[in-house]
Amino acid sequence: MDFNDTAELAEFRHRVADFLDANAQRRTDNQLRGMEGEQAFLEGKEWYARKAEAGLACLTWPKEYGGAGLTPLHEVIWAQEAENYLTRDAQFVIGIGNCGPAIMHFATEETKRELLPRMASAEDVWCQLFSEPCAGSDVAGLRTRAERRGDEWLVNGQKIWTSGAQYSDYGVVLTRTDPTVSKYRGLTLFMIDMRQQGVEVRPIKQMDGGQHFAEVFFNDAVIPDSYRLGDVGGGWTGALTVLMSERLAISGVQPTGFPQFLDLVKSLELNGRPIAEDPLVRERLATWYSRYAGLQAANKRMITAVAKGGIAGAEASLGKLVGAVMNQEIANFACQLFGQAGIIQDQELSPEQAHFQKTVLFSPGVRLAGGTDEVMRNILAEQVLGLPQEPRADKGMAFQDIPTGPG
Ligand SMILES: Cc1cc2nc3c(=O)[nH]c(=O)nc-3n(C[C@H](O)[C@H](O)[C@H](O)COP(=O)(O)OP(=O)(O)OC[C@H]3O[C@@H](n4cnc5c(N)ncnc54)[C@H](O)[C@@H]3O)c2cc1C
Repeated sequence: MDFNDTAELAEFRHRVADFLDANAQRRTDNQLRGMEGEQAFLEGKEWYARKAEAGLACLTWPKEYGGAGLTPLHEVIWAQEAENYLTRDAQFVIGIGNCGPAIMHFATEETKRELLPRMASAEDVWCQLFSEPCAGSDVAGLRTRAERRGDEWLVNGQKIWTSGAQYSDYGVVLTRTDPTVSKYRGLTLFMIDMRQQGVEVRPIKQMDGGQHFAEVFFNDAVIPDSYRLGDVGGGWTGALTVLMSERLAISGVQPTGFPQFLDLVKSLELNGRPIAEDPLVRERLATWYSRYAGLQAANKRMITAVAKGGIAGAEASLGKLVGAVMNQEIANFACQLFGQAGIIQDQELSPEQAHFQKTVLFSPGVRLAGGTDEVMRNILAEQVLGLPQEPRADKGMAFQDIPTGPG
């Protein structure tokens, strides 16, 4: 595939660059991190509304649902240009990247026209309610129940690690509606109003000081049947749509830490000499550069597939696995280079505004979110290398008969 822009794409790239110049801050050495918490969330909403107004939000979505009606290649151009700026796109990646496609695929026309434009302009924020205390990698083992009451469903149970739940207006929730069939067949997917009675959100404090995600408790929360996404018992198909979209969405914003590390190597001195002269630093730089370049090549292969109407294949899992590991390794190494300053979290006092210190604390989570390293390896083993499936002891067994511990 020719990766040079066509005339039309070059014009679009100019439009994106102009918008970013006028509306976002350039990512510079002394501005690696932005603000966090509620203030960041509110700024993010403003930023996304401006994007939508300029016709640059949800580029591939149809115009009638608040999108720009453009192609995946336009999306790629946006990502390439936005990489050089501090934007708040990642804040909405779960709603727009994961929940949006499921709604597009399964919701009624009326619901799509009502909810999607508000999602596209970030007027409504969405979260993804899949994981539970006993169901993460094995998400089909979840226990949150939805029981039918006429035209409504009553939901009871608990979710955990729900990113942005405390800021969300709606969520996409996976529930168990029939425990008498196998775990994959008894699930149903819904949209849920997060602001209603019976939905309690308890933010979780992380070791880096942030509150990225939350526990969510449902106590007789009500969902109208019109908010069902797909068939009763067909939730796993809907969940796969969300999870596949998530892999693609994550691969677009997956941090590797390499550009920041390169900047650091160019700028930092140790004992009066540039660290770029240190043989160990040079060796690491070369190793990480080769992985980074490999990821970019895999990414281009994915772009080619998507541009031809295909879907993101195993390259998305590869990018997630390699990028997340590298992100953690780089942050750990950078903090070792800083010596004693490597443990100082204060943005005012630390080199690079404590970017690497904070990454050390958040990067383990990046290796879990959206599928752990081991799960990515299983996907690559089974789907790329064609190795046998791992043993599944509960195959074909009714969910209610699967042996479990207490709780
Ligand atoms: C920052 C962050 C954001 C998140 N956001 C969301 C969100 O918005 N919505 C949501 O629903 N969830 C979210 N999650 C949850 C995330 O999807 C789960 O943490 C993840 O799927 C792993 O599940 P678990 O934590 O239950 O670990 P477990 O599944 O219990 O895994 C424990 C360990 O066992 C390993 N393991 C499990 N199964 C296998 C296997 N078959 N083969 C080999 N090893 C295995 C895992 O790799 C891991 O090391 C988020 C998590 C994080 C860290």
